[in-house]
Amino acid sequence: MYEKILIPTDGSDTAAGAVDHGIDLAEKYDAEVHALYVVDTDSMSITLGGEQLDRIEQGQFDEMDEIRERAESATGYVADRARERDVPAVEHISAGRPHSLIGDYVEDNGIDLVVMGSHGRSGITRALLGSVTERTLRSTHVPILVVDAQAE
Ligand code: ATP
Ligand code: MN
Repeated sequence: MYEKILIPTDGSDTAAGAVDHGIDLAEKYDAEVHALYVVDTDSMSITLGGEQLDRIEQGQFDEMDEIRERAESATGYVADRARERDVPAVEHISAGRPHSLIGDYVEDNGIDLVVMGSHGRSGITRALLGSVTERTLRSTHVPILVVDAQAE
């Protein structure tokens, strides 16, 4: 049923709730887990200048310690939890608009299930779903399991 499960993460507690569900399913289905962190250049454009933003979008965030560390700790968390359960895990970091890159990743890698949080770093505001989850649901055509922030 599922061979490749994508867990997009922004490193938030809600995303971590989704990690447990995703890994549990991967274990039961003998699937591989893919952890994806997208450096959100939309939200960064407010604080960063054009040239720096261009470099990040080209994937040149290696030398930008804070950005790289946040990304690696988010995907590393997923990979560590997976390996504890002997579930194979792949980590990936990219930069751009999160929902677009989540959709691209699904297409390019033959993902058959996405497991993500209802909310993320912004936390629960008035919106029923965070914008990344809502846009991913609208634009992606594989099944998506949304793990509710309040249930965790
Ligand atoms: P908003 O961003 O709309 O203000 P929010 O931060 O509460 O609200 P989302 O950003 O939609 O909510 O986060 C919901 C889920 O989407 C997260 O739990 C995570 O699974 C995924 N997600 C969010 N941002 C990213 C990202 N930059 N990279 C990968 N996955 C992400
Ligand atoms: Mn968010």
